[in-house]
Amino acid sequence: MRHFDVVVVGAGPSGGHCARQLAKSGKKVLLAEQHQTFAQNDFSSGAIPIETLKRYNLPSDVVGSLWQKIVIITTNIHQTWECDRPRGVVLNFAKLREFLAQEVQRQGSEVWMGHRYIQSDQENGKTIVEFKPYGNSETVKVSTQVLVDATGQIRAVMCPSKQQNLPYLTGTGTEYLIEVGSSDYQKYAQKLTFFLGHKWMPKGYSWIFPMEPNRLKIGSARLNRPHKIVEKTSSLRTYIELIINDYLQGISYKIIDVHGGVLKYCSGLQDTYYRNNVIAIGDAVSTVNMLGGEGIRHGIESAEIASRFIEAYLAGQQVDFSSYQQEMHKTYKKTWDWSERMGISKYLEYSDKLIDRGVSYLNQLSTEEILQVLFEYNFNPIYRRILPYLRYKLSAKIRNLIGQVRSSFTNINILKGVD
Ligand SMILES: Cc1cc2nc3c(=O)[nH]c(=O)nc-3n(C[C@H](O)[C@H](O)[C@H](O)COP(=O)(O)OP(=O)(O)OC[C@H]3O[C@@H](n4cnc5c(N)ncnc54)[C@H](O)[C@@H]3O)c2cc1C
Repeated sequence: MRHFDVVVVGAGPSGGHCARQLAKSGKKVLLAEQHQTFAQNDFSSGAIPIETLKRYNLPSDVVGSLWQKIVIITTNIHQTWECDRPRGVVLNFAKLREFLAQEVQRQGSEVWMGHRYIQSDQENGKTIVEFKPYGNSETVKVSTQVLVDATGQIRAVMCPSKQQNLPYLTGTGTEYLIEVGSSDYQKYAQKLTFFLGHKWMPKGYSWIFPMEPNRLKIGSARLNRPHKIVEKTSSLRTYIELIINDYLQGISYKIIDVHGGVLKYCSGLQDTYYRNNVIAIGDAVSTVNMLGGEGIRHGIESAEIASRFIEAYLAGQQVDFSSYQQEMHKTYKKTWDWSERMGISKYLEYSDKLIDRGVSYLNQLSTEEILQVLFEYNFNPIYRRILPYLRYKLSAKIRNLIGQVRSSFTNINILKGVD
């Protein structure tokens, strides 16, 4: 039986990056993925801030396009923020994961595509991991010192039985990749366009992202919980087609691919982070942020944190991964709790009018501030800018009201003949 220092199950952004980091530091790593190619589950839209590339040493080959403009459209409002330089990228998700896997191989470790994790057992102080290779009835077993669950929302290693009594919040997204003419592409190039409100996507939001020259990604995603006000919704495809027919009016296009996926977030980050020598990263421990469903860079960040603890464990400096869980909670808990609360109000409680009003207030924010809100989940700009504005509007309303009361008293006095 082959032996590895670390076996990482799942070659998404978190598994790929974790395997890459550990292989780089000289560990013998196996990265195993159930799909045979990265084109097979190319489900993510891939919009991230540009700093992520430098921070995690990602090459320009994994970039589909750049963006420097944010557009938010609601049922009745249209707001735009523009920067003078690119502030983010839309990743080619398949190329990103392929690049990470190639890095693992380049460092002398192994990548097994088409290998589905079945189960693992403890045997003589080691963990035996069983995989089912695609198209083969025989399973393959390997042994490892550390096993990493990077299987995303499936949590195949940590939670093999589907019955978990945890407070999960799930969301579902579908996306069309369409080919359009170059003049149509130019209209939507370099910007992320988001659609909010009950017309475009009750319980969630829709989007148009530029994927690469002449290709646009048009998607819709929503939370799978009842809305306080909206009783009935249509299929996700209906909302995507609404954007194509109503917003992109008359565009001529060809559908290249339809893909999508599920996000499963555990409220209060109550996931199991480790059990003995098994550790979970990325969406398997809810690193996706539920305000906008952004999860790629957070999954990669969790892989960086985990690889430090795995190295310490392999070196005998840690006896378990409890400090990994503490570090993850320190990094995410406060902001993620807050984002979840904001997401639930915005997507599941607000009336359409309130969404319109909220977005109209956002025009008080500068481009830097809107980026802070959307990508750093820093809501201070809203309080700093919008509360004084609301206070000003309220006091103007009160002044107006007092004026009206005064003038009606004056009118009454005039009618009574009192001077
Ligand atoms: C429609 C949609 C759009 C999104 N858009 C964005 C976006 O624009 N920006 C952003 O940052 N995030 C986005 N996200 C979220 C982001 O894609 C995820 O948060 C991110 O991919 C999580 O990375 P991960 O590596 O933890 O898990 P995943 O990417 O889910 O990777 C898990 C891997 O494990 C494999 N696996 C599962 N079970 C097994 C098994 N038994 N054996 C072997 N392999 C297995 C899977 O095949 C998969 O490759 C989007 C998500 C969806 C659904």
